[in-house]
Amino acid sequence: MRACILAVPAPIATKPLQLTERPKPTPTGKEVLVRIRACGVCRTDLHVVEGELPVRKSPIIPGHQVVGVVEGCGPEASRFQTGARVGVPWLHQTCGVCEYCRSGRENLCESATFTGWVVDGGYAEYAVAPEDFVYPLPEGFADLHFAPLLCAGIIGFRTLRLSGIEPGGRLGMYGFGAAAHVAIQVARHWNIDVYAFTRDPRHQRLALDLGARWAGGSTDEPPVKLDAALIFAPAGELVIAALKTLKRGATVALGGIHMSPIPPLDYDLLYHERVIRSVANNTRRDGEDFLRIAAEIPIHTEVREFPLEEANGALNLLKNAAIRGAAVLRVG
Ligand SMILES: [Zn+2]
Ligand SMILES: [Zn+2]
Repeated sequence: MRACILAVPAPIATKPLQLTERPKPTPTGKEVLVRIRACGVCRTDLHVVEGELPVRKSPIIPGHQVVGVVEGCGPEASRFQTGARVGVPWLHQTCGVCEYCRSGRENLCESATFTGWVVDGGYAEYAVAPEDFVYPLPEGFADLHFAPLLCAGIIGFRTLRLSGIEPGGRLGMYGFGAAAHVAIQVARHWNIDVYAFTRDPRHQRLALDLGARWAGGSTDEPPVKLDAALIFAPAGELVIAALKTLKRGATVALGGIHMSPIPPLDYDLLYHERVIRSVANNTRRDGEDFLRIAAEIPIHTEVREFPLEEANGALNLLKNAAIRGAAVLRVG
């Protein structure tokens, strides 16, 4: 099969991913073999490729927003028929027995493995994944438009929930890429007013097109105080900017796996019970809840399509904020 391989992490401008031929994987145990049609490009892939996340497998095939079709099953797999359309997400597998797994918090499992980081992912023609961690895809979504829902969508949704925002509330979103452009559609569905903070005028435009009440620069002051904020850009200084916009008792939820250092902050900014909380991965329950809502709304993703061989270019554009919505690799 054709696959984009990362041998050594390096700046994306040096094109570290190489398109090469690899043996097609064989499903074992409860795994399914997925023939990939599309794979979303996520900022976490950039963190893997550039080495901001430690190397967990080398070489590695990145990508964890995989849409494809089941082509084969391991000897113990029985959940999907051949030909079923499925999504393979970031959470590859958890242990199922630790205190986190047993208390509905499998996203925190210390033995969890992750697609495109710990095991090979979707920048390729085939991948294998445990059937219990694969999502059946709802009807009505095209492959390319569905792919960004599998991480940007699900993680954005968990970030939205952990922010504690309630219907009718006022919500700030910092960084307006793939995750925010999905999360705003859920927020609007819940009658939440969204205030978008992003330095890129094209992303401000997208936010307004999707129903934001206001869009401004990263450190601009919004016209009202906010009930919660979500941060999707990996810049620690945004935590300070967000705290300045929040009401007393409000939460700023951080949706990324990596962030530059958060500068020292004046305790007055945090006082009055404001909360800073990170969001780590997601549970399968988050994914199921989100995909149900996504089909109900229905969510529309703005995507820019790239062929597999242009994975480096897609990541480079993502790094430079030049993607409106989400980048997706078309594979098959
Ligand atoms: Zn566990
Ligand atoms: Zn992701």
